[in-house]
Amino acid sequence: MSISHHPFTAAVLACAFVTPAFADSTDDRLHEISHQFENANVISGPELVDCTLSGGAETTCFTITVKAEPQDYEPGPWCPTSVSDGPELAGKWFVEGAFVDADGAFMSSLADVYDDPKWQMVDPETGEIKVTDTIEQCAAAARPNVGPEYENFCVVCEPSYMDEDATVTYTIPLEPIAQDNPTPTSQTGSGVAFNGVRLDGPAPVDAILGAYTVAPFDDCGGHVNLHVGYHYHAATDCLETTAQVDEGDAPIIGLAMDGYDIRANLGVAETTLDECNGHDQGDGYHYHAGEEGANLILGCITAQTGCVAEEPGQTCNASARP
Ligand SMILES: [Zn+2]
Ligand SMILES: [Zn+2]
Repeated sequence: MSISHHPFTAAVLACAFVTPAFADSTDDRLHEISHQFENANVISGPELVDCTLSGGAETTCFTITVKAEPQDYEPGPWCPTSVSDGPELAGKWFVEGAFVDADGAFMSSLADVYDDPKWQMVDPETGEIKVTDTIEQCAAAARPNVGPEYENFCVVCEPSYMDEDATVTYTIPLEPIAQDNPTPTSQTGSGVAFNGVRLDGPAPVDAILGAYTVAPFDDCGGHVNLHVGYHYHAATDCLETTAQVDEGDAPIIGLAMDGYDIRANLGVAETTLDECNGHDQGDGYHYHAGEEGANLILGCITAQTGCVAEEPGQTCNASARP
């Protein structure tokens, strides 16, 4: 590769005035992160910023602002609209640890699946399935304390409901900094996939079902909320590319909010994994994503976390989080 075509030359030169030892390792890491996100819809970054992590550590983070839009597939479908819609017209749902097709047949079986006759997602006369189809209905049905008017609706929030300029900014430590106790990903989210889509914490399945709604994921484990847009509750093979192939372990699919790598699910029971699905295989600690149906990409986060923001340009102080 000719140096004049090297996209990182400017950054490398700009850092030549910093203490060389520091600049080398920091630049190498930033360079690596740039490459890892090269298939994301990156609006700005990654660049280095000062940050305060969840445990109060003041350190150097990278910050990257992305649109939550995978570049290599179109998200969806989510809800079937008729009892006759097969799996190709519908997404997925979690049932007892499995990642099952949320197709028309599944929607007609909910009273049995959940042993509750109040479920009646399918109109017995017409076979139609009630689906939210406006941004107002999405906002009303995809929140806690859903009103009874949305009972037995399949909830869809379309990516098009997001503002054209909606972005998500991740600020993540360049080097992980330890903390005493792991943090549940229900508080922090898990991290960000290299396609720029959030790896979220567990979906609030009990609350969704308690409202007699289902909010399916597409086959890649993603659906939309009006805050971060398209996001994942399962890490599927949609996140694996041939470029990530790595001898001896599963491919790296993203970064956790504490800066450790997240690798794909191992596909076998792995006894060395800790409660956060992580282990140190001699070349440093990393996580593995949970099984697709587990509703748990990561159970917890080992080290201090950075920030996720719906507005770019904010200073990250994760220790101030309520
Ligand atoms: Zn969600
Ligand atoms: Zn591993």
